[in-house]
Amino acid sequence: MNKEKVTEMFGSLVFNEEVMKQRLSATCYKAWKKCVDEGTPLSLEHAHEMAAEMKNWAMDRGATHFTHWFQPMTGVTAEKHDSFIAPEGSSKVLMAFSGKELVRGEPDASSFPSGGLRATFEARGYTAWDPTSFAFIKDGSLCIPTIFCSYSGQALDKKTPLLRSQEELSRQAVRVLRLFGDTDVKKVISQVGPEQEYFLIDKDVYDQREDLILTGRTLFGAKPPKGQELEDHYFGSIKPRVAAYMKDLDEELWKLGILAKTKHNEVAPAQHELAPIYAGANTACDHNQLTMEIMKKVAARHNLVCLLHEKPFAGVNGSGKHDNWSISTDTGMNLFRPGSTPSQNARFLLFLAAFIKGVDEYQDLLRCTVANPGNDHRLGAQEAPPAILSIFLGDELTAIVDSIIHDTSYVEQGKKSLSIGIDALPAIPQDTTDRNRTSPLAFTGNKFEFRMLGSSQSISGPNTALNTIMAEELNQFADELESAADFTAALHGLVKKVLTDHQRIIFNGNGYEEAWVQEAERRGLSNLTCTADALKTYLQPRHIELFRKHHVFTEEELTARNEIHLENYCQVIGIEARTMTDMVKREIFPAVSKFSGEIASSVAAKKTVLAGLDCSDEENLLQRLCSLSAEMMRQTTALEQALTAPKGADAYEAAHYYRYTIFEIMGKLRAVVDELETITAAKAWPYPSYTELLFSVK
Ligand code: ADP
Ligand code: MG
Repeated sequence: MNKEKVTEMFGSLVFNEEVMKQRLSATCYKAWKKCVDEGTPLSLEHAHEMAAEMKNWAMDRGATHFTHWFQPMTGVTAEKHDSFIAPEGSSKVLMAFSGKELVRGEPDASSFPSGGLRATFEARGYTAWDPTSFAFIKDGSLCIPTIFCSYSGQALDKKTPLLRSQEELSRQAVRVLRLFGDTDVKKVISQVGPEQEYFLIDKDVYDQREDLILTGRTLFGAKPPKGQELEDHYFGSIKPRVAAYMKDLDEELWKLGILAKTKHNEVAPAQHELAPIYAGANTACDHNQLTMEIMKKVAARHNLVCLLHEKPFAGVNGSGKHDNWSISTDTGMNLFRPGSTPSQNARFLLFLAAFIKGVDEYQDLLRCTVANPGNDHRLGAQEAPPAILSIFLGDELTAIVDSIIHDTSYVEQGKKSLSIGIDALPAIPQDTTDRNRTSPLAFTGNKFEFRMLGSSQSISGPNTALNTIMAEELNQFADELESAADFTAALHGLVKKVLTDHQRIIFNGNGYEEAWVQEAERRGLSNLTCTADALKTYLQPRHIELFRKHHVFTEEELTARNEIHLENYCQVIGIEARTMTDMVKREIFPAVSKFSGEIASSVAAKKTVLAGLDCSDEENLLQRLCSLSAEMMRQTTALEQALTAPKGADAYEAAHYYRYTIFEIMGKLRAVVDELETITAAKAWPYPSYTELLFSVK
């Protein structure tokens, strides 16, 4: 494709700032700009103009419908389409779209999870336009990004808290910047670049796997003779069918203004990655939701299936999402970029200290934001960061931090120790160390890479938490420094104290080693190994207070979310367990039984012809098949009984039960079935094998 075509295509389905400038009156455009920059509401008159122009623009591009596009707690996006038609007279229609329809919607929302926030008698939920995120056209509909809340204004979605946290982070960061004499910055925005991993498999093979269809992952499957051990897939040449998919995907994303940039093969066979160029957190989150949706749609066009589950295949790496996070000002400064003057360095060290303190103090909360049943298979399993939060700073920055803590000189012996705000730091070269890929939160020169996210999850939760935690720490710092008589001295003292108190969270070593688990325990760091355990810490009073104080969640909203997460966890494991018993009883057991019968008949037949023939190989196999099959049925019965047994008095006990009773039996059942697969004739086995699944795309 030529260069002109790409630039022409990029953003062609987005009602973006360029389009607004061209189509709106100057006053309307200015009003929108003010609304975005300063939060002033748009008048109804301007909303009408905006709506009319959006409609005309969308209709010029073939759209006939509009929808408020929102992100309920299901983790996927939702839309309810209305056509633009409005009656005119008794027999005509005209195409209309009013300011009111743009600004507010009222989907019947009784079936979206609310965690008890919305009683069924007031089933209505409201959607409200998010003017900071551009409208776009998808499948012939004008999609308007909106927040989704209850009648009384409680957030029922993933966008509202993210927006609230952005505002608060901005407020507190601007306070801190004023202390450094900065009077230009009006706004601070967190920037996010989510790297998205996924698997691509052939649809014909997928269609034969009940587990993939119902749960997104394989619940059974013996290890293939070849997995990822040769590492020949990682960054390897891309197969033609995959390349065609990626090209198509890029084009669809570009049309939607999504800056899809990097694509490559990942470690596991059939695994790939897509990374966009970073954007403001709100846009990045919208775009990541859209990306996941489009990835699946485009796959279908190529007779492929895109798996976003965190662990589709046991024994090969699962998929995650790396959330690259930084904060920058509306004047274009990245606050995590080490500078070259004493003042820039002081500012950098202050923001760094705030981040380190925040992560140490809110380890559990950050852990909760990446807790889901799929991710439980990855965190701590030597393929993704451990479940223990820590920060990687690299050797250079760690040396600087150490010199601040111990008042020792940083570079040359004999040079005086570093005084923050007075001395310039030596330049901190980017990426001097070998990239540490085992760290959950790595400093990579001018941003932090939060590597614990699951591939299927919305990035809203983790970024909401990062923003809010950062806001809280900056708030504390600003309070202290604003009242200091000697700013530079107070700043030095504060950074030194914070780094000293929170140095335990810094770890540059190998996070996959067992030694780190023990070391982390000695340091008193949390190690919440599964969702059931992590969520027990979610509603700690300090978490409730953090979110309440910064107007991100009320206690009710947070409680509701916790409820939804716990319930989802139990449901997911429940569905997986029932799928397993179904597969065993209706396919695997009958198949093994038939295969055993064939061996028995064959032995009997051979012995009739040749009495006394040695059939011990077949007899041993038959023996093994029968005993494994019996064990399989015992575990299946145990699983069924566990599924019908009472699960405990509350949601926490239920989650615990699903994790430590049901999930354990699932593991035992799988082990038996996988062994059976290895001794059953390939033709007799009812499901495509791992080899067929992982190497299906040529
Ligand atoms: P790697 O695989 O080495 O981690 P990638 O290039 O695949 O690197 O992804 C890095 C991601 O980080 C990209 O999405 C990129 O846009 C994003 N990124 C780069 N700089 C920043 C920044 N200052 N803030 C947030 N994200 C950033
Ligand atoms: Mg990365």
